[in-house]
Amino acid sequence: MVKLGAHVSSSKSLDLVFDRALEIGADTIQFFVRSPRAWAWKERSDIEKQAFTEKRKKTGINPLIVHASYLFNLASEEQTLRQKSINGVIEELRLCEELGIEYYVIHAGKAKSLNEEKAINNILRAMEIIFKNVSLKNTIFLVETLAGQKGEIGKTTREIQALIQPFESENIGVCLDTCHIYSAGYKINEKKGFKDYQDEVDTLIGIDKIKVIHCNDSKTPFNSRKDRHEHIGKGSIGLKGFELFLNDEYFSKLPFILETPKQGNMDIINMEKLRSLIKAPVAQSG
Ligand SMILES: [Zn+2]
Repeated sequence: MVKLGAHVSSSKSLDLVFDRALEIGADTIQFFVRSPRAWAWKERSDIEKQAFTEKRKKTGINPLIVHASYLFNLASEEQTLRQKSINGVIEELRLCEELGIEYYVIHAGKAKSLNEEKAINNILRAMEIIFKNVSLKNTIFLVETLAGQKGEIGKTTREIQALIQPFESENIGVCLDTCHIYSAGYKINEKKGFKDYQDEVDTLIGIDKIKVIHCNDSKTPFNSRKDRHEHIGKGSIGLKGFELFLNDEYFSKLPFILETPKQGNMDIINMEKLRSLIKAPVAQSG
């Protein structure tokens, strides 16, 4: 069975993510462990951590995915911002390890005015420090494929390769975002484009490095380099693209997480739409 879920709020108390998952019928969920637009870090009490672990066991929702704060920029030339970002990642990762969260997804960084090579170098130095400070056993660190907006690093498979290859001995992998890769110029809503993308990923980084799918349609046209998520089937990717992912032998085993706009019961409707695209397995004969 394909695991479908969504990004849910973790406000008030971390354990509430499970209540929110049940409300929408999610098999798997993603959430923040820090208010994504504020730097402040809140140490969690033992009671909160315990409630989290108990509810997790009771609901059986898995895998769990934490998305890093949007404020981090490991590519930044600004020393203070880069150091704050490194510290922030370390804080979040340590909590993920402690709570046994399976995946931690991060936008590696934005080059802004920097040239890309320098930006990639800054990210690599930052990752070295992060891996030196947190030894990952439970959590896999996932670099997300990005649309390329404002010089985002990770818009091509080559850039992703540059970021993860030096750390092959670590718990590292990739989170694929359907909206981002389509906006970055991969035509994954056509059979050929989908296959070409898969082949490229397999050649450059290994398809098994992809661990999570962010499942979003796109508000903007193909190759727009914009990151604007749309409800499933309502954007420029269209249902065909999702059908290809959901029925693919490898991808169908991964968790699919919606990050579409939060409007009424749209998470439920988007998940229903995704589920309807899954073809029944062909019965084996003879
Ligand atoms: Zn993301």
